[in-house]
Amino acid sequence: MYYGSGNYEAFARPRKPKDVDKKSAYIIGSGLAALSAACYLVRDGQMKGENIHILEKGPLPGGACDGYEYKQVGYVMRGGREMDNHFEVMWDLYRDIPSIETEGVSVLDEYYWLNKDDPNFSYMRATENRGQDGKTEGKFKLSDDAAKQILKLFFTQDKDLFNKKITDIFDEEVLNSTFWLYWRTMFAFENWHSALEMKLYLKRFIHHVEGLPDFKALRFTKYNQYESMILPLIEYLKKHNVQFQYNAQVIDVKFNITDTEKIATKILYQSENEEKSIPLTPNDLVFITNGGCVENSTMGSQNTPAKFDTELKAGGGWDMWRKIAKNHKDFGNPDNFCSDPEKTNWMSATVTLLNDDITPYVQKICKRDPHSGGVVTGGIVTVKDSNWLLSWTFNRQPQFRNQPKEQLVGWVYGLFSDKKGNYIKKSMRDCTGKEICMEWLYHLGVPEEKIEELAEKSANTVPVMMPYVTAFFMPRKLGDRPKVVPNGSKNFAFLGQFAETPRDTIFTTEYSMRTGMEAVYTLLDIERAVPEVWGSTYDIRDLLHSSYAIRDGKKITDMKMSFIEKIAINQVLKKIKGTDLELLLKKYKLID
Ligand SMILES: Cc1cc2nc3c(=O)[nH]c(=O)nc-3n(C[C@H](O)[C@H](O)[C@H](O)COP(=O)(O)OP(=O)(O)OC[C@H]3O[C@@H](n4cnc5c(N)ncnc54)[C@H](O)[C@@H]3O)c2cc1C
Repeated sequence: MYYGSGNYEAFARPRKPKDVDKKSAYIIGSGLAALSAACYLVRDGQMKGENIHILEKGPLPGGACDGYEYKQVGYVMRGGREMDNHFEVMWDLYRDIPSIETEGVSVLDEYYWLNKDDPNFSYMRATENRGQDGKTEGKFKLSDDAAKQILKLFFTQDKDLFNKKITDIFDEEVLNSTFWLYWRTMFAFENWHSALEMKLYLKRFIHHVEGLPDFKALRFTKYNQYESMILPLIEYLKKHNVQFQYNAQVIDVKFNITDTEKIATKILYQSENEEKSIPLTPNDLVFITNGGCVENSTMGSQNTPAKFDTELKAGGGWDMWRKIAKNHKDFGNPDNFCSDPEKTNWMSATVTLLNDDITPYVQKICKRDPHSGGVVTGGIVTVKDSNWLLSWTFNRQPQFRNQPKEQLVGWVYGLFSDKKGNYIKKSMRDCTGKEICMEWLYHLGVPEEKIEELAEKSANTVPVMMPYVTAFFMPRKLGDRPKVVPNGSKNFAFLGQFAETPRDTIFTTEYSMRTGMEAVYTLLDIERAVPEVWGSTYDIRDLLHSSYAIRDGKKITDMKMSFIEKIAINQVLKKIKGTDLELLLKKYKLID
């Protein structure tokens, strides 16, 4: 497997890998990583679909990417996905996945046209004082000291960030800034999370810095991601005869390990209340989704809280990984990520507005008609003064294809599930859906005397607790995550958010899909390049533009500097006078 960029590799079609007709594949899990692996086995590996078996412990595919209507409970989507035009693997795959809505077009076409016609941006990134403008003013508001801390992190080597927390590298100058308000609510970072991940995110999304304050950097799917992203993959795979087995919990995978080779020899799983096993030869490829950000996620309802259940049981992603990890140090260290759910949980809630009683309060903030079918809030609106650090969003409506016209489905999330609310004096995790809705309505500025009735009669709110949703953000070091294909592996790979692939950032759909592609390309030795992570961090134009944007348009020379630093900068500027470098600095408004 090797990386490449540019059209030559992107448009080339690989020839059929040697001996692929003798091979079969067993894929554990059916999240985006697993489904992508299956698609790459079919499209580029040219493996017969009937030789590809997907074992999923749940009753439905999609993993973290959900979006269902539960009878008696209502609509639920645990998350909404902010996405990027430079999710290179994602678009490499979706350009060949047919849309399930429009005949003859791909999912990429559908998404591209939608976001061309209706680009995303927000009129109100944050509120405070019960629905008033949070006055972020499209700015990051970083002091010079704070900007220097961010710059220092940008250039720090990964190894120097192993096991470090964000609070080890940023002080209050950064943590009290508007930059940090945007960042932690948009990407769900907590102050105790990994400094390394923070750095990787900065580098990965450097081309988007200017578009963060108003979210013009983002793109969204038409519906929830189960319907817009998972269902087309399932259709494609079914058409190719890929075999799906649901309610099949993999308990363990057995290996034969010598000094030079590692071979998966057996899959043990439980299905229909029976222990079953699949014996494996080196021609049987195994793809393991280890860990999982929605493991142990629980759902409440309008009148019941979602349980905080942290027990890791056999047949779940964490327990399976723990068992596998015991075989070899190359298989990672799951306990680094799953042993402190107080640090890795947060909650979301799906709010369905049943009529238009609440709509005007939403409209006042987002400044758009939520029923228009187009962008509504244009990304999350963060409630700056919320004890739960609540953010909420309404994406394009309908969010569900079967959603009644008069209803609107939105999403609320809180980073601090253990804190008492500002209006509801309970922690978010102890609240029913109705109570979470009441807290949200309070922050929208709904008059207090109306709050309870509206939450009860005009909305249906379903809370979800995810104890491990940010497990991948726990401080870590190299080796805590297994490589996608560990050294010496002959027939197995790890997939998803807890498999190690260089430069990309976890908690993204792209990361999961990338691991699927890399796994297949390595194990089948496919002759085409995997698209490298978008290289904006190596592009001087992006670096200069982001330097301008992150400092809210200030010139280089406006930075607080020592006398010596000033002399040094002036000397550099003198030296580059009349060169292309000077032109670049001028173009990106860093000098006059
Ligand atoms: C609330 C939320 C918000 C998000 N927001 C964004 C966003 O804004 N932008 C973005 O790009 N990404 C976002 N993501 C991340 C993205 O959705 C996920 O990273 C991605 O979908 C994970 O896919 P995966 O295949 O790696 O893992 P998963 O989706 O977790 O899939 C793993 C699958 O394996 C199955 N499994 C686990 N153990 C076993 C076993 N022992 N036997 C059988 N099956 C098993 C599970 O049931 C599951 O179906 C968000 C995720 C969440 C939860």
